[in-house]
Parts: sequence; C-alpha cells; structure tokens
Amino acid sequence: AIHVENLHKKFGQLHVLKGVSMSARDGEVVAIIGGSGSGKSTLLRCINCLENPTSGLIRVNGEEIRLKPDHHGGSVPADRRQIERIRSRLGMVFQSFNLWSHMTLIENVIEVPVHVLGVKRDEAIAGAEKLLERVGLSEKRDVYPAFLSGGQQQRGAIARALAVQPRVMLFDEPTSALDPELVGEVLKVIADLAREGRTMVLVTHEMKFARQVASHVIYLYNGLVEEEGPPEQIFGDPKSEKLKQFIRNIH
Ligand code: ATP
Ligand code: MG
Repeated sequence: AIHVENLHKKFGQLHVLKGVSMSARDGEVVAIIGGSGSGKSTLLRCINCLENPTSGLIRVNGEEIRLKPDHHGGSVPADRRQIERIRSRLGMVFQSFNLWSHMTLIENVIEVPVHVLGVKRDEAIAGAEKLLERVGLSEKRDVYPAFLSGGQQQRGAIARALAVQPRVMLFDEPTSALDPELVGEVLKVIADLAREGRTMVLVTHEMKFARQVASHVIYLYNGLVEEEGPPEQIFGDPKSEKLKQFIRNIH
C-alpha cells in the first residue's frame, strides 16, 4: 500500500507539488492523470525515493519514509538503508531507457535479485525464465536490449521489475515512448497484472486504458489533486471544469 499526505516538492523556486494527498490500498490500481508538468512523475519519484520531498509524509507498505532537514530548507533521507529496503519492495517502470544495454535480457532480470537481494543464481534464473514467459519473451532470453523492439523492451522492463517480487508496482507512462502499434502488447501485460490484484500506481495518458484497469483515478492539476474518484465518475461525470476541459482535449 502507498499513502501520501500533504506532500510538497520544490525545485528551487519552482513549487511543483503543493500538498498532494493520495493513497493506493493493497490490491488497488490507482491511475494518475494530468497535463504535462502537473507533477505526476515528481509524485512517483518521491514515492520511490528518487526525489526528496520538501515536506509531507509518505508511507510505503506501512513504513513511513524518515526524512531529516537539509541545509536548503528541504529534506534528505534520515536512513539510507531504509530507502534501500523500501525501494527493494517497489517495482518501477519508466517511459524509456529501462533495460541496461550492456546486459542480455535475462541478465537484466536477475541482476537485482542476485546482486542486491542475495538470491542464488540458479534460482534467480529459474524465476526470470518464468517471468519472461509471462511477458512473452522466452525466445529473447539471451538477446541484448538493442535487438528488441520498444514494446519488447518495455515488457522486459516489467519482467525485471517483477523479479524483486515487489509489493507495489509504479508505472510512469510506460507506453508513451512506443510506436502506436506496440502500445497494445505492453498494456496487455499491465492489465494482466491489474487483474491479479497487484497494487499499482500508474501514470498514464492512455485514458481508455485507465478507465478499464483503474479502481481509482486521480487528476493532478498544477501540483494538486483537482479531482479523484472511480473511473466512471472521472471520465463519465467529471465535476471540475479543469478536468472536463482536460478530458475534452484528449478526445
Ligand atoms: P509530463 O506529463 O510531461 O511527464 P509531469 O506531470 O510528469 O509531466 P513532472 O515531470 O513531475 O511533470 O514535472 C513537474 C514540474 O517540475 C515541471 O515544471 C518540471 O520542469 C519540473 N521538474 C521536474 N523535475 C525537475 C528537476 N529535477 N529539477 C527542476 N525542475 C524539475
Ligand atoms: Mg512525467
């Protein structure tokens, strides 16, 4: 589960998150939508400890990220080991550049289990083979990322994220860098994960997809949650004028 309360993030003078609160309960699929620059990626990066919040509270699987003030009016992690631990239970898939280019696909998938989590190599390989099968990439096991299509790379990145047995999956526009004909195969893998009851926070501009897989949708506008609710409300009966306009502009 993810719980965020009154989260603020500033980059220098730029106030990007202005008091965001949201949560994803276990088994929930939360979609985050919003215009470019509204703070979607920054929110995910704070949850994954890739950015330090300026203030606010983040709890990942019940554990609050402990921060201490830095010298610039912001904050830094109070305990690096806690950050490692929290991150090891999150699977994150970004827009692009996910796989390590100097490793084959299977090496990518076993890297963190073997070198960070201490899983035995044989076991990690067996697990990775199952994951590659799940995302339809068994035959690509020993191929380098440069020889995979964008869609295959993203499916490989999902397999790699799953290899740490994450309790929560975070996706940041996993299909936005793909050619249109490759989007479907990646969305299908994500939809399968959603159906399994995995906890997911998904930033997406695929509104049809968000409507299908999300249990809850959050519309971010200018660093704040402008409206949130079940997909039927957000897409079918939005209240906020800004959200209405956002949805109108997409169609
Ligand atoms: P998009 O849909 O384009 O991905 P987004 O909602 O993900 O947009 P963010 O990437 O969270 O938006 O960025 C929000 C704002 O914060 C933008 O104005 C961006 O320029 C700024 N920003 C993000 N990261 C940094 C950084 N490391 N340093 C300075 N400003 C940043
Ligand atoms: Mg973004």
